[in-house]
Amino acid sequence: MKVRILGTDYEIIKDAEEKDYSQLKKCDGFTDFSIKKIVVAEFEKDESSIDNLEWYKKKVLRHEIVHAFIHESGLAENCDWARNEELTDWIAIQFEKILNVFLQTNALDSVKVSKINHNNKLNIEHGHIIGDISNISKQMYTIITKRG
Ligand SMILES: [Zn+2]
Repeated sequence: MKVRILGTDYEIIKDAEEKDYSQLKKCDGFTDFSIKKIVVAEFEKDESSIDNLEWYKKKVLRHEIVHAFIHESGLAENCDWARNEELTDWIAIQFEKILNVFLQTNALDSVKVSKINHNNKLNIEHGHIIGDISNISKQMYTIITKRG
């Protein structure tokens, strides 16, 4: 799939294998800024694996997407904090929580939340999607995709 990151199209490769991407021998995912590609490995369960590998794959994907945003912003080359793995991971881990608060408080310009009902359901304009607040990232993706 392709996503647009600060005006640049990036190809997303999920469940990639080491035979196709030798870089995965040393990491779980990577972003190749030179060809605008984000690659996340396929993981096989073994005795040392965490239980929820899908959760981990999403975490790695978010981390790599944050790298791509920072790179495309022009900060990655000359700014120490922008190359900081700890900061990149913090954004990747905390983003969903921040997004949920933005939505709850109607603090976004691109998405209007018309109401939050007593069951914590959001009614979002620009797509007319009603859903559970804990699943909001998927809805945001749907909204952004529909809006082009
Ligand atoms: Zn990284």
